[in-house]
Amino acid sequence: MRIKWAKRIEELPPYLFAEIDRKKNELVEKGVDVIDLGVGDPDIPTPDHIVESLRKACGDPENHRYPSYVGMLSFREAAAEWYAERFGVSLDPARQVVTLIGSKEGIAHAPLAFVDPGDIALVPDPGYPVYPVSTTFAGGVPYAMPLLKENGFFPDLDAIPGSVAKKAAMMFLNYPNNPTTVLANEGFFKEVVDFARKNDILVCHDAAYTEIAFYGKNPLSFLEIPGAMDVGVEFHSLSKTFSMTGWRLAFAAGNERAVAGLGKIKTNIDSGVFQAVQVAGITALKNSSVGLEDRKEVYRERLEIFCRGLEEAGIEYTRPEATFYVWFEVPEGMTSSEFSARMLSEAGVVVTPGNGFGDFGEGYARVSVTFDTARIEQAAERIADFKP
Ligand SMILES: *Cc1c(COP(=O)(O)O)cnc(C)c1O
Repeated sequence: MRIKWAKRIEELPPYLFAEIDRKKNELVEKGVDVIDLGVGDPDIPTPDHIVESLRKACGDPENHRYPSYVGMLSFREAAAEWYAERFGVSLDPARQVVTLIGSKEGIAHAPLAFVDPGDIALVPDPGYPVYPVSTTFAGGVPYAMPLLKENGFFPDLDAIPGSVAKKAAMMFLNYPNNPTTVLANEGFFKEVVDFARKNDILVCHDAAYTEIAFYGKNPLSFLEIPGAMDVGVEFHSLSKTFSMTGWRLAFAAGNERAVAGLGKIKTNIDSGVFQAVQVAGITALKNSSVGLEDRKEVYRERLEIFCRGLEEAGIEYTRPEATFYVWFEVPEGMTSSEFSARMLSEAGVVVTPGNGFGDFGEGYARVSVTFDTARIEQAAERIADFKP
């Protein structure tokens, strides 16, 4: 018997990275030295004081039982305190914060809470693939908002047809942005608040990279904008900030009814985050500046090394002021997929083709610098030598 798959997974777009992975493994087996700059997953270990905090909390039998669905109040309090200190945003930890099993979990479940079949979710393109996929899983229809270079990689809200805005239940945004690396500004966020108000749209802002910014840049929280609390919820993750991707800990904060909606979905799907991990998360948030500058310095140096390689190759790129990615234009006459295939076969470097982030990523590629600095240097040399 051939097990029937539901349409929602049968109709998923083909996994773009599978072919690259296959080719990469083939080359590695042949003994080729492949440098994989594909995945954005910090190589810098989680700081010791956070690990130690987990170690202690693991031994406490209190933490061995089912956690609360919406998260320990003490963790949500720590999150609220961190928001107040970092952004000057005041949150009620009991009603305006919910703990998540990584922000991917919250993002993936948001459309189940806010999108009815046939409703539209506005999604940035290029963007994190979870936004459109989770919309589709909920029976909704993703509508791509192009992030174009000529608009500074911001969506043009005026270009969204009125009929689309009317059918839209929610909008995903993400600044500092993966993959384009740009930061939001107050003016743009204000426009978003007005647009959301006018059209009754819930704004889900993915704020995974607010703490990874360079050159004195200080990324905003969407919730800092007057009126944002009426229309929005923000997803914040400990993954990138504290090098905790493997731990699965994040939270959503903002509009009380939105937080409650997410909580309802979660109560029926999962049973929360291991309490010991939340205790370690409290330690992380209460000591948020420990080691942060050093980690950022490592990323900044690597980004600059890689960008010098791009310059030598004559490749156009956006100077990254945040995140640990470089978003660059593939040489003229090549598609993203062709470039990425040739980078792999001719230079032994894995880069993510931009179209993996949506149609408007075509013509671009992304690398992540979450790998050993010496390897980034080698990759930069190989790119510099690449002859299109
Ligand atoms: C890494 C990432 C996330 C997910 O992080 P979690 O580990 O699930 O918290 C969410 N959004 C973007 C844009 C990311 O790059």
